[in-house]
Amino acid sequence: MRDASELLRSRVRDVPDFPQPGIVFKDITPLLADPVALSRVIDELVVGLGRGTIDKVVGIEARGFIVAAPVAYHMAAGFVPIRKRGKLPWKTEQESYQLEYGEETIEIHADAITQGERIAIVDDVLATGGTAAAASRLVERLGGTVVSMAFLIELAFLKGREKLEGYDILSLLQY
Ligand code: AMP
Repeated sequence: MRDASELLRSRVRDVPDFPQPGIVFKDITPLLADPVALSRVIDELVVGLGRGTIDKVVGIEARGFIVAAPVAYHMAAGFVPIRKRGKLPWKTEQESYQLEYGEETIEIHADAITQGERIAIVDDVLATGGTAAAASRLVERLGGTVVSMAFLIELAFLKGREKLEGYDILSLLQY
């Protein structure tokens, strides 16, 4: 049987020049469609984060939801969505941050986290780290403690970890 990380790596498809020229998009749909790879990813994230250490898992729209929700279920933790501006129906807190081109704003429900809750932030890809940094500011503004951040894929050459100094970061595949 093949090494697990080799299996996961073989299920990530590189799509050059998507969504714009110069970007190599890491397409995880082949991995999600493979039952062995999918369960492996969720199991490894749950083991890496550690059962019993987290009150809520925060997932980031949209591919982050796919990974974060089953992780939350297996951790016996709650799930909290962070979404792009204008999608959440209740009162929100917002954070804006710079993208390579333009600006992005993400939101969380103002009552989604209570003071002192232990939070894991989960997303599919750690690229420049701007999204995860903004997510951590939202969590902390609501009184949560970011215990860890977990990603399926880390694009290490973009040095996202430098933007996330001081946080405990887990990634399953590095490029
Ligand atoms: P970041 O630059 O770390 O703020 O990444 C922003 C978001 O864009 C993350 O939530 C990723 O899901 C997504 N992303 C960035 N770069 C890629 C890529 N090369 N392939 C797939 N998703 C990406």
